[in-house]
Amino acid sequence: MKDTFKHQGMRQQLVEILINKGIKDKGVLKAMGKIPRHLFMDSGFIDHAYVDKAFPIAADQTISQPYTVAFQSELLQVQPGDKVLEIGTGSGYQTAVLLELGAKVFSIERQQELFKKTSKFLPKIGYRAKSIIFGDGYKGMPDEAPFKSIIVTAGAPYVPNPLLSQLAIGGRLVIPVGDDVQVMTLFIRKGPKDFEKHEFGDFRFVPMLEDKN
Ligand code: SAH
Repeated sequence: MKDTFKHQGMRQQLVEILINKGIKDKGVLKAMGKIPRHLFMDSGFIDHAYVDKAFPIAADQTISQPYTVAFQSELLQVQPGDKVLEIGTGSGYQTAVLLELGAKVFSIERQQELFKKTSKFLPKIGYRAKSIIFGDGYKGMPDEAPFKSIIVTAGAPYVPNPLLSQLAIGGRLVIPVGDDVQVMTLFIRKGPKDFEKHEFGDFRFVPMLEDKN
């Protein structure tokens, strides 16, 4: 499948929508204006790729709403070269945004089917994460810690301690916390045991699940 002028035009309209909804980070807007989101969705749903909505992907999961991706990415304040851990690779779209921002990306997915599909797909379109693993995001990736930032793209019933402890000092964890509805929450690590917490309103995600299948 290709990226056509039509897709590019639709993408610019999506960027305008994000700006109107309050997204300001130039790097994030540029990344989302560049990444062919339609390639991350099954071919039947191409017309839905550039509307600001979440959409079903494989294994009963969803590709996050573009506004949510932009909002979380903006909160991370990624600098080129930052080591970033992503929980919930899913379609790989958020992974691609992080890579466009210059991050070194490590990503964890617990659905075997999505893990296989996305770890093959991303390099095919030129997006190379440092590592994508099939595993449990509640545990993080201790061998690669510390991370400059950690982003969780599934709704977490609570904040997993391993994720807090794998943050670098000065690092940022962006995580939607809650059961049916999640509060977007940012933790900034100020010291070994000192975390600052900020909350940013309600979002809805598929749940972060504990047991692998
Ligand atoms: N960033 C993805 C979001 C996908 S939805 C995208 O935009 O496409 C959330 C993803 O988190 C799903 O793929 C789901 O399988 C995954 N997930 C849920 N619980 C998880 C866990 N404990 N560890 C890792 N991934 C998990």
